[in-house]
This record gives sequence, structure tokens and C-alpha cells, in this order.
Amino acid sequence: MNENNMHYDAIIIGSGPAGYTAAIYAGRANLKTVVFEGIERGGQLMITTDLENFPGFPDAIMGPDFMELLRKQAQKFGANLISALVEDVQLKDARPFKITADGKQYTSDSVIIATGATARFLGIPSEKEYKGRGVSACATCDGFFFKNKHVIVVGGGDSAMEEANFLTKFASKVSLVHRRDVFKASPIMIGRAKNNPKIEILTFKTIAEIYGDPATGTVAGVKLQDTRDNSIVDFPVQGIFVAVGHDPNTALFQGQLSMDDKNYLITKPDRTATEISGVFAAGDVQDSFYRQAITAAGSGCQAAIEAEKYLESIHG
Ligand code: NDP
Repeated sequence: MNENNMHYDAIIIGSGPAGYTAAIYAGRANLKTVVFEGIERGGQLMITTDLENFPGFPDAIMGPDFMELLRKQAQKFGANLISALVEDVQLKDARPFKITADGKQYTSDSVIIATGATARFLGIPSEKEYKGRGVSACATCDGFFFKNKHVIVVGGGDSAMEEANFLTKFASKVSLVHRRDVFKASPIMIGRAKNNPKIEILTFKTIAEIYGDPATGTVAGVKLQDTRDNSIVDFPVQGIFVAVGHDPNTALFQGQLSMDDKNYLITKPDRTATEISGVFAAGDVQDSFYRQAITAAGSGCQAAIEAEKYLESIHG
């Protein structure tokens, strides 16, 4: 065994449900474990209001409260939690694996990648210009600023439905804008949005451009485009919430681990093992299909068990 202070049995990168669950299992397996939590710990649930579908919480729990519980549980079983972004990883042909965070190098005999995914934006130039001045990807964070205002939510998935419903607590009106008339969202979520008198649903629409009020520099409206005939109308609103899915956080692993065409890490069938022995991937970073808190937590558990078995195989 390596006695170095900066050496671990398991390094976990990421602090969402996958990362903390892996830490709970690794800690309980007596593995010397560190979690690099990033700067804003807790992952996507930190910007979720009610978590209604995690088994065991019949009355729902707030996303941030849930993450705090997972974090405490990881700490209870001995995981060292470090609030720092990982800047560099050396996984390929490296034994032990090397991780640099905050300018310091850490080594480990196994690595669990649980870096999750990040909200996508529309990619139109004016969106960048008005980010933080009317354009947001987080209703929980920014909804409060839109009291009695008219806002748009873009997207047709569960996130868009959830954001639209949440925003009706503040906004006078929410226009849900979707590019098709078929929704990815679950029927229960669509039903809630449809039954909310403050929500209007606009199908076959996209945002072609965002414009601002020159006096305040904040969003004043959008050019709303019909996806069938490309016609454009002026649509005055004060806020735009983008809820069009996520991209996996895998830039750090480019050139070291295989990814699919959407940059999700590839793991072995029914396993969290990557192509590098001792390196595992759990949660949204390797799952473009389920992307649920419960499945992320489940795969964090799998990764820790696989890491434990791997360590046994190399240390005997
Ligand atoms: P999804 O991938 O499910 O939906 C993304 C939506 O955005 C789609 O309707 C898509 O349109 C649209 N879209 C994508 N790109 C663009 C674009 N450039 N312009 C306009 N529209 C675009 O992502 P979500 O974040 O909604 O959900 C992810 C996962 O998280 C899902 O599994 C969901 O069930 C889960 N979730 C569960 C919640 C809950 O249970 N409380 C809450 C939130 C999420 P199109 O349909 O045309 O592709």
C-alpha cells in the first residue's frame, strides 16, 4: 500500500448523487476515499425544487436538502471531501492514476468519474449577450427576479415543464415554447403545465433572436419563429428560461477515454468500468438515457463496488 498522504484507494470526481453514493459505498468498504466536489457542489439537484420521484420521500424533498443529506452520509463513512475543480487527469498508461486539483497532485489506485452533465443553451449570439440579464437556464436560481413578468420557457422535456410550473409562482404569465407538437416530457408533467392557468403552450416555435431594452440592457422580447413556415413574429417578454437538455462534462477526459457521438463516456455493458482498468464512470456522465437521480445514485453504488473488487484484484 502507498503511505503517501495524497494517495487514495479511490478518487471520486463529482459531487452529484452518483459521486456521493460512490463515496458512501467506498467509505463503508474501508477504502481511503476522496471526493473532488468542484466549486459548486451537489450537481444538478442543487437547482431542482421538489424531488418527487426518489423512492423514500413520499412528500418530496428539496433538491439541495437531499444533496446535503447525501454529503453528510459520505462524510460519516470517512470520505475526504475537497471543494476544488479537477484541472488535469492522467489515466491512460498511468499507475497510480494522477489527478491535479487546485495545483496539487493526488494519486489513486482507482478513479470514479461522476462529473455529470451541464445545461445546454440555444447557441444563438444574442443569448450570450443577455445571459444573466433576462436569459437563464435555472428557474430555481433566477425565478424570483421575474415577479409579475411575462417569461418564456424553451423546451419540451420534463425540465421545461418543471421550470414552467415553478415560474408561475413569480411570473404573471409563462409561455412554454417548443419546436414540435410532441413532447418528451412525461404525461403527468405535461398535464400539470396544461392545467396551470398561467401557462400557455406554443408549439412549432423556436427563438430566432433575443432583443433587449437599450435603456436597461435587459431582455425585452424575442423574434419567435414558426418551425413549419419559418415566419417570424415579435414576442415581447422579460425573461427566457432555456430548458433544452444537457451535455456531459467530459472535456477533461478527451483523448484518454472513449466517448459516444454525444460525448458521453462509454462503459462496459451492465458495468461502470471504462476501457481503462481501475477507472469507472457513474451517473449522467455515462448515461444519456435515464438521467435520473435514482439511476445516478445506483450507478455510483455499482462503481464503488466495482472499484472495491478491482482493488482486491490488484492488492490481493
Ligand atoms: P430532454 O432531453 O428530455 O428534453 C429536452 C427538450 O429540449 C426536448 O423537448 C428537445 O426538443 C428540446 N430541445 C433540445 N435542443 C433544442 C434546441 N436547440 N432548440 C429548441 N429545443 C430544443 O431534457 P430534460 O432536461 O427536459 O430532461 C432530462 C432528463 O431528466 C429526462 O429523463 C427527464 O425525465 C428528467 N427530469 C425529470 C424531472 C422530474 O421527474 N421531476 C424533472 C426534470 C428532468 P425535441 O423534443 O424536439 O428533441
